[in-house]
Amino acid sequence: MQTEVIVVGGGPAGLMAAISAAQHGANVTLLDKGKKLGRKLAISGGGRCNVTNRMALDELIKHIPGNGKFMHSPFSIFNNEDIISFFEDMGIPLKEEDMGRMFPVNDKAVTVVRTLLDKLEELGVTMLTKTEVHDLLMDEDRIKGVQLADGTQREADAVILATGGKSVPHTGSTGDGYPWAVKAGHTITDLYPTEVPITSPDDFIQSKELQGLSLQDVALSVTNHKGKTVITHRGDMIFTHFGISGPIVLRCSQYVVKERKKKPDNLVTLLLSLYPEAKEESLFQQLVTLKKDQGQKSIKNVLKAWAPERLLLLLLKKSSIPSDTRTEQVANESLRQLAHFFTRFPIAADGTLSIEEAFVTGGGVSIKEVHPKTLGSKKKDGLYFCGELLDIHAYTGGYNITCAFSTGYASGKAAAETLQPFIQ
Ligand SMILES: Cc1cc2nc3c(=O)[nH]c(=O)nc-3n(C[C@H](O)[C@H](O)[C@H](O)COP(=O)(O)OP(=O)(O)OC[C@H]3O[C@@H](n4cnc5c(N)ncnc54)[C@H](O)[C@@H]3O)c2cc1C
Repeated sequence: MQTEVIVVGGGPAGLMAAISAAQHGANVTLLDKGKKLGRKLAISGGGRCNVTNRMALDELIKHIPGNGKFMHSPFSIFNNEDIISFFEDMGIPLKEEDMGRMFPVNDKAVTVVRTLLDKLEELGVTMLTKTEVHDLLMDEDRIKGVQLADGTQREADAVILATGGKSVPHTGSTGDGYPWAVKAGHTITDLYPTEVPITSPDDFIQSKELQGLSLQDVALSVTNHKGKTVITHRGDMIFTHFGISGPIVLRCSQYVVKERKKKPDNLVTLLLSLYPEAKEESLFQQLVTLKKDQGQKSIKNVLKAWAPERLLLLLLKKSSIPSDTRTEQVANESLRQLAHFFTRFPIAADGTLSIEEAFVTGGGVSIKEVHPKTLGSKKKDGLYFCGELLDIHAYTGGYNITCAFSTGYASGKAAAETLQPFIQ
């Protein structure tokens, strides 16, 4: 007798859960409401799919700011190296890019999806698309199956929920799993956008004068209402028509959301450093030296290598230095202000784009109510959770898909083994 397992949701978590459950001996049915499986996976990583990250596990966990420690257990069952082996064993070699990011060699996310589907076919998993789950069937103690939107019921010994978060809803991630989890006795922690561009009411953003300007290897800090730095990320960013975006902005975004939540009436101050290694005082001294050596030239010309022109003009304006002023005429006090802006230029944040526009949903099924090794519910026997539906979220860089595959695999294995003590 085989354990009957239903997996709801065919994103990376559900696809891997179904594979793992089948590999561990279950009879598996995978249900997804979309026309195709793996829709978000197919557009991930700019269509290239940053399938995992090759960092050492401790480092990997540091890149999962949303309950990363919980991942120690799922990673002990299926981790980033297992993901790499999985694809390589299926004939899909991966390549490593900067910061440990792993991509398929052919740069095609659809190959990743196809590989997972091939494996599911090979394992005889029943895959039903355009099949929307409407509710869970359960009694006091355990899960019984699922109710479909067309009214039919499907019984199962175990149900794995892999319905994802609420971000980018056209891929099918519309938050359907949250009310089912609540019905089964679970808590859903606050949902919020993360890995999302930041909005700013600042005049230089609203005027769009910096729109499209990108900065490389700068540092961005989020400060709290007491002016203390909460987090700093270093890397690249870009100014947009509504605020700022790019890798380090996405990483800072959740901290902006949290600070705004604590003090909804306050704007959050971000500090941009164009020179993350430099001290303000040493920049000031360099400016004073330039004033002595190149005093006849306009300040704008003397400093043209210091920052992209549009940003330099803004920093000069904010330091009350007309850009055509001869450098020798600039007061040291103004140069000090300029040095300050090169290392700590304030950008006010009034929020982020919406949860639907975010790359990732923060919050979800509380991990306190889920067994870390099995991803099984502590509230309802036979119910399992995996992927972004859980209150686990990571930075961009392959970490979210890694969490989805890992929790998917661990939950599939455990679900397949659900009835094993009873099946003889
Ligand atoms: C544009 C973009 C790029 C990204 N790039 C990366 C990247 O390169 N690396 C990375 O690590 N992360 C990336 N992410 C994040 C990553 O894609 C997600 O964290 C991951 O897809 C979550 O996987 P999941 O399986 O939990 O959920 P999802 O991928 O959201 O899948 C959920 C599935 O459940 C189905 N479903 C929902 N409700 C129902 C229902 N009622 N009945 C039946 N089926 C249902 C949906 O149709 C969907 O197929 C990216 C996200 C976006 C939006």
